Amino acid sequence: MPYGLSNIMIDGIANISVQELRGVGPKLASTLADYGVRHVEDLLFHLPLRYQDRTRVTPIATAREGADVVIEGEVRAADVVFGRRRSLVARIQDGSGTLTLRFFHFSAAQKNNLQTGSRLRCFGQVRRGGSGLEMYHPEYRVLQDEDVAVEEALTPIYPTTAGIGQNQWRKLCKQALDRLHREQVDELLPPSGKYPYELTKALQYLHTPPPDAAQELLREGKHPAQLRLALEELVAHNLSLHRLRERQQEEGAPALPLNKEALGAFLASLPFTPTNAQRHVLQEIAIDLAKPVPMMRLVQGDVGSGKTLVAAGAALQAISSGYQVAIMAPTEILAEQHWRNFCQWFEPFNITMEWLSGRTKGNKRLTALGRIASGDASLVIGTHALFQDNVAFACLGLVVVDEQHRFGVHQRLALTKKAAPQQGRAHQLVMTATPIPRTLSMVAYADLDCSIIDELPPGRSPVTTALIDSSRREDVVARVAAACSEGRQAYWVCTLIEESDVLQAQAAEATAAELRAGLPHLAIGLIHGRLKPLEKAAIMAAFKSGELALLVATTVIEVGVDVPNASLMIIENPERLGLAQLHQLRGRVGRGLQASHCVLLYQTPLSANGKQRLSVMRESSDGFYIAEKDLELRGPGEVLGTRQTGLMEFRIASLPAHSHLLDEVQFIANAIRESYPERTDPLIHRWTGSGQQFAKV
Ligand code: ADP
Ligand code: MG
Repeated sequence: MPYGLSNIMIDGIANISVQELRGVGPKLASTLADYGVRHVEDLLFHLPLRYQDRTRVTPIATAREGADVVIEGEVRAADVVFGRRRSLVARIQDGSGTLTLRFFHFSAAQKNNLQTGSRLRCFGQVRRGGSGLEMYHPEYRVLQDEDVAVEEALTPIYPTTAGIGQNQWRKLCKQALDRLHREQVDELLPPSGKYPYELTKALQYLHTPPPDAAQELLREGKHPAQLRLALEELVAHNLSLHRLRERQQEEGAPALPLNKEALGAFLASLPFTPTNAQRHVLQEIAIDLAKPVPMMRLVQGDVGSGKTLVAAGAALQAISSGYQVAIMAPTEILAEQHWRNFCQWFEPFNITMEWLSGRTKGNKRLTALGRIASGDASLVIGTHALFQDNVAFACLGLVVVDEQHRFGVHQRLALTKKAAPQQGRAHQLVMTATPIPRTLSMVAYADLDCSIIDELPPGRSPVTTALIDSSRREDVVARVAAACSEGRQAYWVCTLIEESDVLQAQAAEATAAELRAGLPHLAIGLIHGRLKPLEKAAIMAAFKSGELALLVATTVIEVGVDVPNASLMIIENPERLGLAQLHQLRGRVGRGLQASHCVLLYQTPLSANGKQRLSVMRESSDGFYIAEKDLELRGPGEVLGTRQTGLMEFRIASLPAHSHLLDEVQFIANAIRESYPERTDPLIHRWTGSGQQFAKV
């Protein structure tokens, strides 16, 4: 139909429905649509996760353990074996060696197929078993006399979803590729750039890499075809974050002019003078707040760099303009520390404060909600309970989020919406003590302006870090005892992988009991997340006053404890934690004048990666360096702690593999915003599909 044809030529492949493909009826189309695949182009951008090589037959003798390979050989023996589990076991031989096939589930027909003397071609993962090389449940076919061709291209493994199998994806993508010969995929990047690969070719290559493809490069995500698409995906991501930012800025925010007198009086009331870095960041914030567009600023500063002071300056500016401020921390302990700090700092200024956490219940809660809604409370401090729907503010002007990496972008934005509607958004100040590598923040926080506090207050002493394996635990306990007998104080940190408060508390309780038994003359305290706020406060106070010599703790002390006399920290099983978290923990010591020590008491055997990570801690105390290493060794999801939010779930781009593209990404994204704004939507649509995770907020 000529009419239809011209339509296709004008619209391109982006508008051909998947229903036009063979085998796609309304039911499959709807399953695909749920997955964000509606058009043929969406299939082209449904990229393989990895590949299998079925293009050649591997001699058994050269098959590597762990590799997925095709082997071909003759069945020498096949038996049903009654071990712990009944299984069908066949040995096959190919002239170079023998390999065992194992089937734990099998049919009578299979048993008949695997007769001694028949020839098989198998595909599966090679593993090492009791009898040499083995494959469990390989795919296989019995070969007759005919020559069966091997595959012509590497076999793509696609991301799948319930209701669509691997083979179905392969068939669909193959049909989409066939269409590529007739119809165009729109090139959406600016024509002026030099790109590592041509778009259509890149898609073809990645869906069907030739047998001689550089598989190593593909595995690492560094093939030029991958680079081309990763570049585009990162550009799309950048555009969508900017779009989000623009939308918020269009909503406006109350202008909160700087009150120089109030700030001057506040700074003068402190027992110290702000560092230059603090002054600089205070100034950046003051300028932002005075504008009628919402500030969206990220303050990064190493542990102990004094971010709280900066937040206080911002809060004062908002409150003197008659607006409310919400300060939100990820844990109750940290929120409590802020509460104490701000009570003390703001006392002379007659600022009304309110506390709200998940544990604020009953009448207390009602009173708090009432004071927040009426505007009687100017400064509200709490945990993520502040996000909840039933918390309404009279006139919220500024939201301060501490320790950003634990909150997702959605949570962060949900709170800024709590400003009264006629005022638009609240200003946003995000503070993180986990330095975020520049590369990562360019991607994850492209919607935020960034300030860095790159200077510590004077008088901090560096912490010496030692790696000691758990067989020397007794020595470490003796060292703690010796230090405490000299009047020093120490932390003993218990770690568990489980997020469960209960299990963490149990582990810490057990450790405390053991240490108390071994060191009866020492005053040992215990703190964990299950304690009531008052109990926690009492224990912290006792430790701070020196009444307790040793504090056994879960990672709750990661944030928010400031005891300058504590100069020794033992971290048990540090290999379970990320470097950023270890760095945070370690930041609790080295706050006083005496030399401080941190002992990483690791469990053996330690993986090579684990060893490398802990060595980074020994070598460096620079938060940014540590964060870069963490990114290298653990990947961005772990570093940001946002795996669940989907923020960093790219189809093809990955960090740090593609970090080197980021400058170009920014350049291209700017060029599109300036010269090709009409391409923004199609690009975002192409890469985020119906996911649209950024446009929703
Ligand atoms: P972080 O950046 O880790 O949140 P804090 O704001 O908790 O750091 O500050 C750590 C400690 O340093 C606090 O006891 C704080 O009072 C103190 N502090 C902050 N700024 C300065 C400064 N300029 N000079 C001396 N001490 C400071
Ligand atoms: Mg802090």
